[in-house]
Amino acid sequence: MSDHSTEILVAGQWRRGAGAPVDTVDPATGQVIATVHSASAEEVDEAARAAAEAVADPAWRDLLPHQRARLLHRIAELTEEAADELAATQTADTGKTLTETKALALSAAGTFRYMAAALETAEDAVTPARGPYVTMSVHEPIGVVGAINPWNSPVASDAQKIAPALAAGNAILLKPAAWTPLVSLKLGRLITRALTELGLPTALLSVLPGSGRVVGDAVVRHPLVGRIGFTGGTETGRGIAAVAAQKLIPASLELGGKSPTIVRADADVEQALAGVMFGIFSSSGQSCIAGSRLFVAREIHDTFVAELVERVRKLRVGPGTDPDTQVGPLVHHSHRDSVAAYVDLARSEGAEVLCGGAAPEGPEYADGAYYLPTVLAGLDNSSRTCQEEIFGPVLVVLPYDDEDDLVRQANDSVYGLACGIWTRDHRAAWRLARRIDAGTVWINTYKQFSASTPFSGMKDSGLGTEKGRDAIRAYQRQKSLYWGTSEAPLPWAN
Ligand code: NAD
Repeated sequence: MSDHSTEILVAGQWRRGAGAPVDTVDPATGQVIATVHSASAEEVDEAARAAAEAVADPAWRDLLPHQRARLLHRIAELTEEAADELAATQTADTGKTLTETKALALSAAGTFRYMAAALETAEDAVTPARGPYVTMSVHEPIGVVGAINPWNSPVASDAQKIAPALAAGNAILLKPAAWTPLVSLKLGRLITRALTELGLPTALLSVLPGSGRVVGDAVVRHPLVGRIGFTGGTETGRGIAAVAAQKLIPASLELGGKSPTIVRADADVEQALAGVMFGIFSSSGQSCIAGSRLFVAREIHDTFVAELVERVRKLRVGPGTDPDTQVGPLVHHSHRDSVAAYVDLARSEGAEVLCGGAAPEGPEYADGAYYLPTVLAGLDNSSRTCQEEIFGPVLVVLPYDDEDDLVRQANDSVYGLACGIWTRDHRAAWRLARRIDAGTVWINTYKQFSASTPFSGMKDSGLGTEKGRDAIRAYQRQKSLYWGTSEAPLPWAN
């Protein structure tokens, strides 16, 4: 990896960050692939000031929506052209399979295209007037916004914030996770190129890697930052929301999950088996929406779980670069250790380990951050293992007796992010989909996404929404105009 790609983007300039060096490690091999010097708090300030100037620059400020859309289309093209390179970087940085990282890069391109289309068709309102005036509700950019992302799907989560924020007319300070800055820096290069080609101020985007405590906090607290888009853990989100409340600025929070997957006795078993495994073990379980609690109707529980375990044992664990791999390494050795500690906790809570429960053996796994896909049984839903987000390839199976018992257990969680339902009974699917506390419910499918469909969490899983056409409005301020049409003076003035 060249030095070039470790430079950070501050106020339109590529440079070595003035903050602490952070090694980024390929979790499949344990090798350091690059050392990125973090941004310093002073560089966050520099980026924010330049961003505020860029937003006010007439070259950007005066663009009409269809002209801003051209920028998003160009970024989409460049992202699509670079999809293989973005995928390879993300696989090296996160351990995810190339199949997945390629899909994430293409989905980022799709997000820019979708937001361009949404922007061109977004309408302001002429509201029914209640006097001799025309009343209008219009939308304007907020100014400088902060985007803070976790390590699990960087390029896609970057696009989910940058695309609507740019569409809305803002400048963005992007803070990628300390472990995985490389693909965000690559995306930053593509966006800089698009801005330059179109003669727009390059300080509209800064990419500021580093720790949350230093760089993330400086972004959130900066007086010029008028909105935060955050994805990450619930406790981090709570802290950011507290700062945003003090500043009286909006913050959208996409947080953690402990999502239930439900297999009813009338499910298509083949579909359910594949869906349950994909829902928890793809991305090695490092997914906010992972279906980590599996509720199976008691009458089919034992046969379903036996078949599931047999298939989970056959999942192919290996490096993300191997096209045969289904389950890659975890993002970092320390994260693998935290997942292993959760499985130890589960054992101490009385769990039966049906499969997995250890790192795989063999020289090919020795240096990587691998952990076997694990299925646990024999726990109560109130156990810590069932209540806390593990963020790894660990599934807990729980039987249920009837629908009320199921809904009570499934909703007995501080989280409310996602839910999967496997059934052939469309009425039961409807009832359950409406009764479960979850921002997204998948019926006879799982972990599928469209840029056009809003995404949000309930309860401790978040506040606010990403994606969908309203995402652009979420990065704008609303203004009302009253425009007098009468020639007569206001009655009071008479
Ligand atoms: P994290 O909360 O530790 O970090 C997320 C980001 O916040 C990182 O960039 C981090 O550096 C930054 N940060 C940390 N402290 C900060 C502070 N005080 N001020 C500002 N920024 C700060 O989360 P993580 O471990 O990187 O990611 C895993 C978590 O993300 C899981 O809980 C997962 O469920 C969640 N997640 C949620 C979604 C969703 O859409 N709901 C999607 C992906 C991941």
